[in-house]
Amino acid sequence: METTTALLGTTFVGGLVGVFAGRVPHGKYGINSRALTVGLMALLLSSRPLHLAGHASVWGLGLGLFSYTLACRSTLAAALTLWALPCFGFFLQSHSVLPVATELLGKPSRQTGQVHGSWDVPVRQSGIHRPDVLLITVDTLRADAALSMPSPGDWLVFDQAVSPAPWTSPSFYSLFTGLPVVAHGGGLPLGDQEYSKPLEGLPWLTEVIVGAGYETAAWTCNPHLVADAGFSRGFKHFVHSDSFFEPHLFHHSIQEWRHRFTGRVQRLRHERDQLLVEGARRWLSSPATKPRFTWVHLLAPHEYQRDLAVDMDGWKPGMEDLELLWRAYALNVAATEDRIRWLLEVVDFSDTVVVFTSDHGEAFGETGYRGHGKGRTDAELLVPLAMAGPGVEPGRVGGQVAVRDLAATILELLHIPRAMPGQNLMENERDAVAVGGLRWDPETFALRRAGGEYARTAPPAATGAPMVFSDDTLRNLGQLGYVESP
Ligand SMILES: [Zn+2]
Repeated sequence: METTTALLGTTFVGGLVGVFAGRVPHGKYGINSRALTVGLMALLLSSRPLHLAGHASVWGLGLGLFSYTLACRSTLAAALTLWALPCFGFFLQSHSVLPVATELLGKPSRQTGQVHGSWDVPVRQSGIHRPDVLLITVDTLRADAALSMPSPGDWLVFDQAVSPAPWTSPSFYSLFTGLPVVAHGGGLPLGDQEYSKPLEGLPWLTEVIVGAGYETAAWTCNPHLVADAGFSRGFKHFVHSDSFFEPHLFHHSIQEWRHRFTGRVQRLRHERDQLLVEGARRWLSSPATKPRFTWVHLLAPHEYQRDLAVDMDGWKPGMEDLELLWRAYALNVAATEDRIRWLLEVVDFSDTVVVFTSDHGEAFGETGYRGHGKGRTDAELLVPLAMAGPGVEPGRVGGQVAVRDLAATILELLHIPRAMPGQNLMENERDAVAVGGLRWDPETFALRRAGGEYARTAPPAATGAPMVFSDDTLRNLGQLGYVESP
């Protein structure tokens, strides 16, 4: 719809300028009043309420001026216009993308999650005040890599938090269902590059929270965490960063072209994380009539090896480059921490339960391999976990807890009397945590004992239906190396 508006706007204004430019006599200084009027119209259209039509018309104006200079038969003017257009494009790209995207994020209903009535809870009892919730997850963040944030003085920090699985999909299915992977059966390999959804009919954290009267919004850019895979369930606003650029046809093409030209794909990834945080900040700063549940997922630490490889002319880092890779990883983590601190500036901790965690860690050669999704190791399964806000006593917990217990814990903090699987992890440590859902081997399910040993267990008895991804999602997954690009 927005793309159509942009195209129509471009055609209309470009045509208008062309017609005016062709009809007027040349003034003394080559300036004519009607072309100026159209230019002013275009600038007016560029104002915030009409930014889509405005940006389109600015480009249309450029095209119109080009045809005007042709009509003047001035080679110099035509050459100058041809030179100025791409410069102007770069200017737009570098100065306008962020505010424009943020503007879009102010009304982010691009994908709306399904809310299933069966899990709604009639809990709008009088006298119960429910705080907001901000769930911040960072992809691929090892427990020992979150160096400076959060500080134990303000947060309840868990030293031994075990993620449910060593890669994204099964881990997040556990976070939202409160179940171990062996019970929800989601994110398991069904065949060549095909994974399962979780079993039908399981409760889903966001839907339960919506039933309690919450407004919900999510910002994510991991291609696994899409509506196709079920992650928009319960979210009224579900923004995936790949959708940011769609309405801005010209910005998008310039963006793509520039990144292809400079080879700096990583910058695009960072810019997406930045857009997510800007959107979430805007959402959290706006007035609300209902309590809010907000989920922000950042991806930059996942992409450190591509950063190195791309910046060094296609060179692929190997195991002998672990030190270099670790430094690249740490830089991405530090940039992500800065972004989170900036997001937290707008959070009222007295009325917001803030949760910070990751979906899995990353191995750096501990068991002879680098990456995640293959092994049962603490490098891949121990993640940072910290909480703050009403009902959370700052401090440190040394014992083993399961990240999947966040669902039950959050519901308890919000006084929502809806039983979801799991237990309050602020009060209960676990002797054993079920892990599994390995990408390459569904048979490698295990229990992690509190001491850190792993004992193999049986694989799940049942898995959910196959996930079916759109071509766009498959292309994005291909960029991350998860599947062959279509
Ligand atoms: Zn992940």
